[in-house]
Amino acid sequence: MPNPNGALSCSACSQSLEPLDRFCRRCGRPVSGKTPFHHRPWFVLVMLFAVVGPFALPLLWRSAGFSRRQKVVITVLQGVFVWFILSGIVRGYMMYLQFISNLGVG
Ligand SMILES: [Zn+2]
Repeated sequence: MPNPNGALSCSACSQSLEPLDRFCRRCGRPVSGKTPFHHRPWFVLVMLFAVVGPFALPLLWRSAGFSRRQKVVITVLQGVFVWFILSGIVRGYMMYLQFISNLGVG
């Protein structure tokens, strides 16, 4: 958006922009128009918790749709989520091994 001295600045973080910039150099927000789909909060959350897991973390950190505090909280939640999934897999495998060894004894 134009400010009084005619220069452009980012609507999200107030970083000054060059006239031809299409994205903010600091936070990546588009200079005009809509937020790109990969920066929308719901898209990032779906990627994080349902599709690619921790591999979507760079997407989260580059997204302009979250505050820094939200990014930290979501990153921690993602870590807990991954730990929960992995420990479930390990527990399932242990039960499987126990099942196999019981078969051997019986
Ligand atoms: Zn910005």
